[in-house]
Amino acid sequence: MTQDLHTQTLTQLAAGLQRGEFSSVELVEALLGRIESFDQGLNAFVTVTADAALAAAGRADAARAAGNAGVLNGLPIVHKDIFCTKGITTTCGSRMLEHFVSPYDATVVERLAAAGAIVLGKTNMDEFAMGSSSETSYFGPVRNPWDRERSPGGSSGGSAAAVAGRLVPAATGTDTGGSIRQPAALTGTVGLKPTYGRVSRYGMVAFASSLDQAGVITRSTEDAALMLGVMAGFDERDSTSIDHPVPDYVAGLAGSLKGLRIGIVRQHFDAGLEEKCAAAVRESLAVLEAQGAILTEVDLPNLDLSVPTYYVVAPAECSSNLSRFDGVRFGHRAKDPQDLFDLYCRSRGEGFGAEVKRRIMTGTYVLSAGYYDAYYLKAQQVRQLIAEDFKKAFADVDIIAGPTSPTPAFRLGDKTDDPITMYLNDIYTIGANLAGLPGISTPCGFVDGLPVGLHLVGPHFGEETVLRCAHQYQQQTDWHQACPEGYQ
Ligand code: GLN
Repeated sequence: MTQDLHTQTLTQLAAGLQRGEFSSVELVEALLGRIESFDQGLNAFVTVTADAALAAAGRADAARAAGNAGVLNGLPIVHKDIFCTKGITTTCGSRMLEHFVSPYDATVVERLAAAGAIVLGKTNMDEFAMGSSSETSYFGPVRNPWDRERSPGGSSGGSAAAVAGRLVPAATGTDTGGSIRQPAALTGTVGLKPTYGRVSRYGMVAFASSLDQAGVITRSTEDAALMLGVMAGFDERDSTSIDHPVPDYVAGLAGSLKGLRIGIVRQHFDAGLEEKCAAAVRESLAVLEAQGAILTEVDLPNLDLSVPTYYVVAPAECSSNLSRFDGVRFGHRAKDPQDLFDLYCRSRGEGFGAEVKRRIMTGTYVLSAGYYDAYYLKAQQVRQLIAEDFKKAFADVDIIAGPTSPTPAFRLGDKTDDPITMYLNDIYTIGANLAGLPGISTPCGFVDGLPVGLHLVGPHFGEETVLRCAHQYQQQTDWHQACPEGYQ
């Protein structure tokens, strides 16, 4: 009976545990076995915490027997290796933090643990979450279970590959410009990026603080809703955390789409979007329409400015955030420095990879005297325009729908030599980060055997609406249940 546990969603597993069909120890053993068999081919994990997970599962079984089970009691999850975990390394996919062990847990880690979730390990990612392919990791590229010659997307590619390959039912991720939604689209999983401020950033290694947001990758909207309910809520340790009531997201999934006004962005279907992807997305919109949603066209006139704006704002914030890695207080320290300057230069030179260095240099440049007004300040102004475009659109519609990514999963190595092509992967997702809006990607079809995602964006604190819309779509389709060959 425990043979097929890896095929079940978090929600199904929760019910099985509740009915006593299997124990958390059995469940954790089964999934650790999956990781053992499949992770060599995927490289989704940086760290597997087998012993700690088994011990925690034993405690979860005891807690259940004593009548003390939290909502996620005994359920296995994994964390992107950007969330600080007490006693376990948090590498951020970087040589800089290869041996870094945080003295505390991130709020997200703490809340999920308090609800009873069991952490099986930490997942691989683009270095410091900078990337769209999970190839910039110091620990090597992550592979996509749908085709191991292809990227699972990024930067939360390890989380996405682990969920898609049925190594774990749910994973945390972070999304600064698309890093939850794009890998979800490329691996046929569900990726939810909440409103900025909805989930605490405390203990999440900072990349671009005004854009970073924690969220989840799962195989169903029910699971995403379940996880978000535990993770969301005010945290006084994060100064941008918002004190806003947390609804029952699972209960909010019910309800028809009748009358839901869905905005379709004309610019989303311009050149750049692969024709077969466009066709899959159009079909999914027809499914929503058949469920009673009303489709209307909306305009986001400044959409084409979102990628350039992001690539000023994000590097600027990254150059500031990453200045703390100096070989003294945190991170890799170069051997035998001649003086302090040599220590700084070589520690950073050795600790950071090429993409991170590119961002630090760009960011330092746009913040420098003489260029600040021309680049950084201008980017902030354009960011405001983009946010206003969304605001105007949401005066007429409840949700905006479109593609998550312009192409399905691309081959490893295909875009590594051309940063601009890589950056354009996030053309559809970055706007939501610049405006702080919630977004979800849900599987909506296949192109040449590779999954494609439907992207739904809501107004601030519209998580319930995007979740409900994606959930009702999943009730009519089974794309989200498709499993990559060899991972059944
Ligand atoms: N691909 C984008 C970047 O490289 C977004 C990354 C992210 O969301 N963390 O910055």
